[in-house]
Amino acid sequence: MTFDVETVRADFPILQRQVHGRPLVYLDSAASAQKPRAVIEAMSRAMEHSYANVHRGLHTLANETTDAYEAARRKVAAFIGAGETEIVFTKGGTEAINLVAAGVGAHLQAGDEIIVSEMEHHANIVPWHFLRERLGVVLKWAPVTDEGVLDLEAFQRLLGPRTKVVALTHMSNVLGTINPAQDLARMAHEAGALVLFDGCQAIVHKPIDVKAIDADFYVFSGHKLYGPTGIGILYGKAERLAALPPYQGGGEMIGEVSQDRITYADPPHRFEAGTPPILEAIGLGAAIDWLAGQDRLAAAEHEHRLYERVRDGLSGLNWLKVIGEAPHKGAILSFTVDGAHAHDVAQILDRYGVAVRAGTHCAEPLMKRFGVTSSARASFALYNTEDEADAFVEALTKAQAFFA
Ligand code: PMP
Repeated sequence: MTFDVETVRADFPILQRQVHGRPLVYLDSAASAQKPRAVIEAMSRAMEHSYANVHRGLHTLANETTDAYEAARRKVAAFIGAGETEIVFTKGGTEAINLVAAGVGAHLQAGDEIIVSEMEHHANIVPWHFLRERLGVVLKWAPVTDEGVLDLEAFQRLLGPRTKVVALTHMSNVLGTINPAQDLARMAHEAGALVLFDGCQAIVHKPIDVKAIDADFYVFSGHKLYGPTGIGILYGKAERLAALPPYQGGGEMIGEVSQDRITYADPPHRFEAGTPPILEAIGLGAAIDWLAGQDRLAAAEHEHRLYERVRDGLSGLNWLKVIGEAPHKGAILSFTVDGAHAHDVAQILDRYGVAVRAGTHCAEPLMKRFGVTSSARASFALYNTEDEADAFVEALTKAQAFFA
């Protein structure tokens, strides 16, 4: 397998676009990635040729669609080394974490402890805050060093007999830091806690084996993985999912319903109430098939080279502050520009066709940790090029001149 960025780009129709009369330089893939033609066509094809509701029909289209939906589940399972019944389709990474928190919460009581880190996305903070508010569980915060690394010794010290859940990001959407998931899982398990990883960013940049990590739960969303929006994945070890009560009630998640009694379906269907994201699951399956045709290691190296190129291009500038310089990090560059609000930086970059994100990145505790109210973020995907990296550096240098 080879990796050739121009061949990759040819699969993404949107990358041909111009913005403000300039070629689009899309550096916002950590928020949501663009879609290859294979995904677009798989979803269109399903709608044009073989579409019906799943699981409840006896006619051809219902059966074909059910087969396609369940085939997507098998693709996801194989992609992360899980069993088929360990994959729950949700509407996103956020919903997957909410599902786990709500379910695990049924087994917790006041004084139980949940460890999160200072580098979490709000999706992996707020559902645990709900449990703090409702049950009186205690949230403990694993600190992040100035470099943007999770402080493992401090994390170890937080673990104790009352630790019930450890919920950590596998890769920070702001710092780019990749956390040592396997070590963290081992430490959490030694303390008798369940461990959940938010893999929304990590899954995009590295092959994931949930069994090697020994995660109890691993979640991610489809839309950052070159798939559609409206679909997320909850992986849970079979015995962990079996221990969770249902999340939402409705069709398809039951065993039997009568006037005074109800039983529930086994996982994963117990957690998929109502009509699920059928087309989105099919689209995600197509994204995974598409990724299987790429040399992912070479792609990650390519992304990292782009990051290094930008880092070099911006080195020594006294008006730029980079947030997150962990030795082990993915291709995400968060930064502030002296005298400028991040929103203004992003808006000026947009005039040059360069799309970056700016704001708190749904990580307010992390912003506070680094003493900033917002930052701008350029994130690199496998379809970005060296020319785009250079265009970003040039546009940012010009943008800074507005504030100097
Ligand atoms: N966790 C991380 C680390 C993220 O980057 C994101 C998306 N910004 C989420 C969770 C939430 O994912 P979604 O919005 O797809 O539910």
